Amino acid sequence: MIPFSKLSYWERTIYTEGMDFTIVGSGIVGLSTALHLKKANPQAKITILERGYLPTGASTKNAGFTCFGSPTELKDDLSKMDEKSVWKTVSMRLEGLGELFELVDHTQIQYEACGSWDMIRNEDEAITPDFIEYLNEKLHEITGEKTVYTEDQTKHLNSGFQGIKTTYHNRLEGSIHTGKLIQELQRACSMKGINTLFGVNVLSFDSSDAGVEIQTALGTLHTANLVICTNAFAKEYLPDILPARAQVLITKPIPHLAINGTFHMESGYYYFRNIRNRILFGGGRNVDFSGETTTEFDTTNVIQEKLNQYLLEIILPNTPFEIDYAWSGIMAVGSEKKPIIQKMNKNVAFGVRMGGMGVAIGASVGKQLSKLFS
Ligand SMILES: Cc1cc2nc3c(=O)[nH]c(=O)nc-3n(C[C@H](O)[C@H](O)[C@H](O)COP(=O)(O)OP(=O)(O)OC[C@H]3O[C@@H](n4cnc5c(N)ncnc54)[C@H](O)[C@@H]3O)c2cc1C
Repeated sequence: MIPFSKLSYWERTIYTEGMDFTIVGSGIVGLSTALHLKKANPQAKITILERGYLPTGASTKNAGFTCFGSPTELKDDLSKMDEKSVWKTVSMRLEGLGELFELVDHTQIQYEACGSWDMIRNEDEAITPDFIEYLNEKLHEITGEKTVYTEDQTKHLNSGFQGIKTTYHNRLEGSIHTGKLIQELQRACSMKGINTLFGVNVLSFDSSDAGVEIQTALGTLHTANLVICTNAFAKEYLPDILPARAQVLITKPIPHLAINGTFHMESGYYYFRNIRNRILFGGGRNVDFSGETTTEFDTTNVIQEKLNQYLLEIILPNTPFEIDYAWSGIMAVGSEKKPIIQKMNKNVAFGVRMGGMGVAIGASVGKQLSKLFS
C-alpha cells in the first residue's frame, strides 16, 4: 500500500486532512461513535481508521444475541458483583439495545424478537421460584414490563434436547444478523459523509492542546480529537483490559431442524441459536481461560471438541449433523463487567472493554463517548 505522503491533493482533502474527529476501530463502538459525533456536530469531518480489510475484532464475529441477562448468568453475576452494579449493567444493556434500534432499522438487520431460553442441566444450576420473582421485580423496575422471565418446562422437550431438566424463558431477548448490523452502520456512516480508511494500522499517538498526531503504518495523520474504539486491542494503553477469545462453530444445514430461538447454558458460557436451518454454537471459554486470554484469531481442539460434544450429547443428540466451519473473535474483559468510557485528556478518549455485551451496549457507548466532546 502506498504511504499517505504519496496521496493526491484530492485524496488528501477528502480523506486525510482537516479531521475534527478520528476514530480508531470500525467495530460497533467505532461506527456508533462516529454516527453520534456527526449528529452532535453536523459540520465535523470524521474519519474512521481500521487496520483490517474488514472490522477485525468481535463485531463481525459474534453470535448476534440481543441479550441482557439469563437467570444463571445473573445468578453468577450476583455472586461476584454487588447487587447495584449487576442491575446497572442490565439497565445499560437494555438501554443500549434501544439506542441500537435508533441507529439502525431493525428490519434491515434480521432482528427477531424470538426470546431466549436458559437451559438448566443439574442441581448446581437450580433456579428457585423466588429468584425468578426477584428477577421479574427488578426487570419491572427497569422496563415497566411484567413477567419477563418464566419457567418453560417444554422447550427442551420440543427442541429434542437431552439431559436438560428445565428451561427459563426470557421473552425480551432476541437475535440479529451481526454482519448486516455492521453493514447497516457502515452504510449510515457513508451516507453522512463519514469515511472509513481500511488497512490503516494505528501504531501510537501524541496529543497536545493543539491536537493529536497519529502514527500509522502508512505515515502520520493529524486530527483535532481522537477516539480509541479498539476494545481488546487497547490493552497497550489501559492496564485493566484482558483479551478474551471466544470460539464459534456453525453446522451445515440440517433438514427439519426443530430448534428455534436463542439459548444459553452454564451462566452464559455456552450459547447457541438457529440461523435459517443451521445451528451456530459458541462458548467454552471456561474450559481454558488461560489459553483463551489471547488476541490470536485461532480455534483450538480443546474447545471445538467440547462444543462438538455438547452438540452430540445435548443439543442435537438424535439428529445427524456436520460442522461446516468454525471461527473466533476477540472480546475484552477486565476486573469489572463494565466498559471503560473515559477521556485521557482534552482531545483523546477511550471507549473499550465491552465484554460479551457489545451488541447490546455498543450503540450506547458510542453515544456516551460523543457526549465527552460536547
Ligand atoms: C464469538 C463472540 C460472540 C459474541 N456474542 C455476543 C452476543 O451475542 N451479544 C453481545 O452483546 N455481544 C457479543 N459478543 C461481544 C461483542 O461482539 C463485542 O463486545 C463487540 O463487538 C465489541 O465491539 P467493539 O467495537 O468495541 O470492538 P471490535 O469489534 O473488536 O472492534 C475493534 C476494531 O478495532 C480495530 N483495531 C484494533 N487495533 C487497531 C489499530 N491499532 N489500528 C486500527 N484499527 C485497530 C480492529 O481491527 C477492530 O475492527 C460476542 C463476541 C464474540 C467474540
